[in-house]
Amino acid sequence: MNLKKLPIRRIMLLLAIFAITFSGFVTFVPLKSGIESSLMYYVLKTKEISNNNLDGTNLNINFGSQKDGVLATCYFFREEVVINKKSWNKLDYRGRILLMAHEIAHCQKKIGHINKVDEWGCADNFMHYKDTGIWCNYYNFKKYVKQMKEI
Ligand SMILES: [Zn+2]
Repeated sequence: MNLKKLPIRRIMLLLAIFAITFSGFVTFVPLKSGIESSLMYYVLKTKEISNNNLDGTNLNINFGSQKDGVLATCYFFREEVVINKKSWNKLDYRGRILLMAHEIAHCQKKIGHINKVDEWGCADNFMHYKDTGIWCNYYNFKKYVKQMKEI
């Protein structure tokens, strides 16, 4: 097409349509939809122990590429949780439930981080920005589950 023959307004309109379409693909459409079958158990368990308060069943939750050291990310606008498989495989049961609950709270409830540690250096809340480890998760698990019901 001959751009000289197109009035500037039409060009702007075409650019706007292109931008909206493109941002739709980038921002609002999940990379993978649905929930990975091996993660479903943890999604349902999280729902159960939080008394249905943290319900991730309508989110898209899958394994995918994440930077080293990043356990998972909630992509808010795509309602999508992407989990680092390498890190996931190293987590025990509590670690996995806590990660799942954490990401569902971000994506479903739009809750941010609560970065406080207790006198042991353990996360005071399951919405802490990082997993403070097996020992902390073991000793604080009941407290975290209570928070899951109330958050
Ligand atoms: Zn987080």
